[in-house]
Amino acid sequence: MSEEKSLNFIEEIIEADLAAGKHTSITTRFPPEPNGYLHIGHAKSICLNFGLAKKYGGSTNLRFDDTNPVTEDTEYVESIKDDVRWLGFEWAKELYASDYFDQLYNLAMQLIEKGLAYVDDSTSEEIATQKGTPTQAGVRNEYANRSIEENKQLFVAMKAGEFPDGSKVLRVKIDMASPNMLLRDPIIYRIKHAHHHRTGDQWCVYPMYDFAHGQSDSIEKITHSICTLEFVPHRALYDWCIEQLGTFPSKQYEFARLNMTYTVMSKRKLLQLVNENMVTGWDDPRMSTISGMRRRGYPAASIREFCDRIGVAKRENLIDVGLLEFCVREELNKTAQRRMVVFDPLKLVITNFEKEVELLTSENNPEDENGGTREMPFSKNIYIERDDFMEVAPKKYFRLAPGQMVRLKSAYIIKCEEVIKDAEGNVTEVHCTYIPESRSGSDTSGIQVKGTLHWVSAAHAIHAEVKLYDRLFKVEDVANAEGDFKDHINPNSLQIVANAFAEPALANDASNQAFQFLRKGYFVIDKESTPTKLVFNRTVTLKDAWAKEVKKN
Ligand code: ATP
Ligand code: MG
Repeated sequence: MSEEKSLNFIEEIIEADLAAGKHTSITTRFPPEPNGYLHIGHAKSICLNFGLAKKYGGSTNLRFDDTNPVTEDTEYVESIKDDVRWLGFEWAKELYASDYFDQLYNLAMQLIEKGLAYVDDSTSEEIATQKGTPTQAGVRNEYANRSIEENKQLFVAMKAGEFPDGSKVLRVKIDMASPNMLLRDPIIYRIKHAHHHRTGDQWCVYPMYDFAHGQSDSIEKITHSICTLEFVPHRALYDWCIEQLGTFPSKQYEFARLNMTYTVMSKRKLLQLVNENMVTGWDDPRMSTISGMRRRGYPAASIREFCDRIGVAKRENLIDVGLLEFCVREELNKTAQRRMVVFDPLKLVITNFEKEVELLTSENNPEDENGGTREMPFSKNIYIERDDFMEVAPKKYFRLAPGQMVRLKSAYIIKCEEVIKDAEGNVTEVHCTYIPESRSGSDTSGIQVKGTLHWVSAAHAIHAEVKLYDRLFKVEDVANAEGDFKDHINPNSLQIVANAFAEPALANDASNQAFQFLRKGYFVIDKESTPTKLVFNRTVTLKDAWAKEVKKN
């Protein structure tokens, strides 16, 4: 039996609504604005919206909130669809707020006809001043007294393109004294002579977010419209429009947006990183974008697990990026194929190994019974990691040192017999002997050693470039750190191992597969890798300081 998880506050609301017969099934939506790539914060919203619909047998729409013609682009639409699918979710309908432009226009006209909306010719500065302050009521200007007929004609003329940008807006008449500033006759339509990525030049009036969003929810009969906390003050306007228009009673619920340490997560900032070439693109493996994380090798399952573990909060908080990395390691430990790769080689000559080559067998994944095995060539000349050898070793040094024995993983126990140096005293080669009876899996030598090293056969090794990524920012709370966020970029977030030596099995492995390079970390083939030049990204290191923290608790 899996343990019962307690319900989050949105699940409680849904269960109460279903129990009360308020709805017979639920409909949610994920409403990205196509003005950038999705990031891990959006993943939280996706997992929540799709997850709830799945749990309660409902459905989720993917709705592009494309009411701002200036910043939106079809490139973003495609990337968003890719990312949602990759995360493992399928939407019921693919919809665009821009498809509702006619309906939204007619709904606005209905508000005019009810005497609840008016065309205002004031400048934006005048509107701002007349609005008052949170402690002082605003004043309504003379335009609010326009007749319904005049407002209708003006709104038609606005749509017909008779006025320049910014010369008129449509406002709803609510309450200029409301303590909620957003209810002081908010603007619901503005004039913008701009080309829209879907509707072209058909429109020159565009609905404002609050009006478009709520009414789009109603049009789609969204039962639970889930958004982040900054929309709490907008809820009153959301409800007011639905009530006045008598449209489907969608309800808005707010949760805390995901913030994560060492990360920025606003599309505006991510766009700056891209435009100012601080990263290689939206899918740079250091980015907090879903495409960046995918390229870096984060499994979709680990992102879903992370979103599940952080839960749904009602108050803003800062989540440790270590928790995400912990989820990535947990998943990769189960799935990653083990391989050996030497980053900084030191040559070993096994002086008593006489065969040209011996094919050894090694498990692909000791955590997976069905993981299978692979062959690894072993020969006289081997590379090990330079820092796995010390000429003068301290006590309790269990790696290779003169006179000491270690096991070569999946191969033999070797003993260091002689150190060869160049004229400057640098170690160039280490000569060893091997114990023929000590082969892994059939060891009859009776010898116990403490150290096990990864290695590759020099003649059989293939070359690879390995990109080692670190956090993109040096400070924990980037959004609240002093100065510009770009001042906190970690200058060492990418280190390139230009010429690593990899075991030959890696040449034939399918791309997209996750690997654990023994003792090094988890890696994945980069999209720029070619058969003649292999390129790997480090997904995450093996060290799991976070996991120890979790176990302690
Ligand atoms: P950003 O501020 O990063 O540009 P946004 O909120 O403007 O993001 P939208 O495309 O408008 O991005 O968001 C789509 C959905 O994703 C919205 O419902 C929004 O509330 C949600 N969302 C955005 N960022 C986060 C986050 N950090 N955590 C949780 N949900 C988020
Ligand atoms: Mg937005």
